Amino acid sequence: MNDNPAFGAGLQPFMGITSFMRLPVSRELKNVDVAIMGAPFDSGTSYRTGTRFGPRKIRETSLMIWGHNSTLNVTPLKKLRAVDYGDVSVIPTSIEHTMTAITNTASEVINSGTTLITLGGDHSIALPLLRAHAKKHGPVSLVHIDAHLDTWESEFEGSPYSHGTPFRYALQEGLIREGEYVQIGIRGPLSGENDYADAQKLGARTITIHEVMEKGVGEILKEVHQRMKGPVYVTVDIDSADPAFAPGTGTPEVGGLTSYQLLQLVRGLHGLNLIGFDLVEVSPPFDHGDITAILASNIVFEYLSLLAIKNR
Ligand code: MN
Ligand code: MN
Repeated sequence: MNDNPAFGAGLQPFMGITSFMRLPVSRELKNVDVAIMGAPFDSGTSYRTGTRFGPRKIRETSLMIWGHNSTLNVTPLKKLRAVDYGDVSVIPTSIEHTMTAITNTASEVINSGTTLITLGGDHSIALPLLRAHAKKHGPVSLVHIDAHLDTWESEFEGSPYSHGTPFRYALQEGLIREGEYVQIGIRGPLSGENDYADAQKLGARTITIHEVMEKGVGEILKEVHQRMKGPVYVTVDIDSADPAFAPGTGTPEVGGLTSYQLLQLVRGLHGLNLIGFDLVEVSPPFDHGDITAILASNIVFEYLSLLAIKNR
């Protein structure tokens, strides 16, 4: 396999047709280890939209990624057979239909034994993804990196599903193992004074940005490794990073992780039984110089590298 798939066939990063790291675009899953899929849905947002353009922009910025991960000493696409699975056919006017489509398409992939990496889209896509993964693996251990709790009750009257509620329903539906849900990087003004208490009552271990900054990423990772006993699903909301590093997102919160700390957090998940991943909330219309999408594609590359060294 090519060392530098993004630069394959004599192409420079600005040349040719875009897929994630120039992987083959294919729905053939036979002997495929990893599939990258887009879920370009942003009708679950409460403020700024635009994440429907996230997957395409993340694919574009991924073309700058050289193949070798120098920190983890692995060239993931030499170890893994991977494809770009294309996008889920979302319906921008119907969150329910879209959620069903996401669960079905995700199930197609993971039921064939392929690990799925999903590019959002807003965070509402995490609930149908968790449904698919829990159907295959049973309830999962969940690492959720975000500025926001996303365990809110319905923000919109009569409509339970949005990008602010996926983990409330995931917990209520029994998709997450008891005591094995951590949310990391939480901060910012809340809609009510009981929001943290509600999340804890539902079963979350909320690790605020203050705790991360006081203890350091290493200590936080220690707790994550101690807690997680089951198959681990990881969901990264790019707004966990400070708006200085990730301005291109729908609901930015000041005082967040640096891009280095976010990389460190994801990299530090090595050793866990990693079974699935999504990266959400990249909104290219609000980005500057693609810096948010560049961070996002590198976080995905980091996770891909973890899959490549899973048995190391
Ligand atoms: Mn979120
Ligand atoms: Mn968020």
